[in-house]
Amino acid sequence: MQTFKKRYVITLPLVVTVGLVNLPSMAEEKLEPWQLAEKTEVWEPVPEVVSAPLNQAPSDAIVLFDGNSLKQWQALEGGSANWTVKDGVMTVKPGTGDIITKQKFCDIQLHIEWKTPVEVDGMQGQQRNNSGAIIQQRYEVQILDSYNNKTYPNGQATSVYKQTIPLVNAMRPPGEWQYYDIVFKAPIFDNETLVSPAYVTVLHNGVLVQNHTEILGKTEWIGAPAYKSHGCEPLQLQDHSNYVSFRNVWIREL
Ligand code: MG
Repeated sequence: MQTFKKRYVITLPLVVTVGLVNLPSMAEEKLEPWQLAEKTEVWEPVPEVVSAPLNQAPSDAIVLFDGNSLKQWQALEGGSANWTVKDGVMTVKPGTGDIITKQKFCDIQLHIEWKTPVEVDGMQGQQRNNSGAIIQQRYEVQILDSYNNKTYPNGQATSVYKQTIPLVNAMRPPGEWQYYDIVFKAPIFDNETLVSPAYVTVLHNGVLVQNHTEILGKTEWIGAPAYKSHGCEPLQLQDHSNYVSFRNVWIREL
């Protein structure tokens, strides 16, 4: 009898322990596939609903040019922006200078449609209908008629000017509308020290031409680019003395 009691006392906890250890896996084995699939579903947060009609700004975008007015813009040198607005299009008025947005931006998605005149009047290279989207008033994504127009490739359309050559040339002929979709990650500074450079991704007429390209510093015509600490800044469009036109310009803050 004594022998039996001893064996009972020792064995029971072992049975209970083994049973508890096995419980979860046994329960899991009984789950249906859809119940297992549910375990990797994430239900929060729910993305905000944004309407995105064809050829129009998304509902959460800041419209920088809607075809009617330059109210979102001012002249670089101060005062009103004096570019021409006609038939839903704004066009550089040569000699009036660059224009900048009244609002400042950090990380952005930018959509900008532009076209250059059909008549090129013998103009070549950088002189053939040049403009530029100068992000944060420092980092220029080149706008240029690069259709059968030889120039240095790190200065052709969609180059990060004087820094990075585009992956391909997706230009349409002059006189046709082109569009850029740009995603820009602003640089990060700790006081005067650069912590993270800026990055830019550019699609030209829907074609990827800059793929998360590291920006090397402020765009320079002469000399090497370098960073100098700054905060959020306006978007600037360049008056390079050519009749470059724009429409449907909008921006989303990221
Ligand atoms: Mg330019």
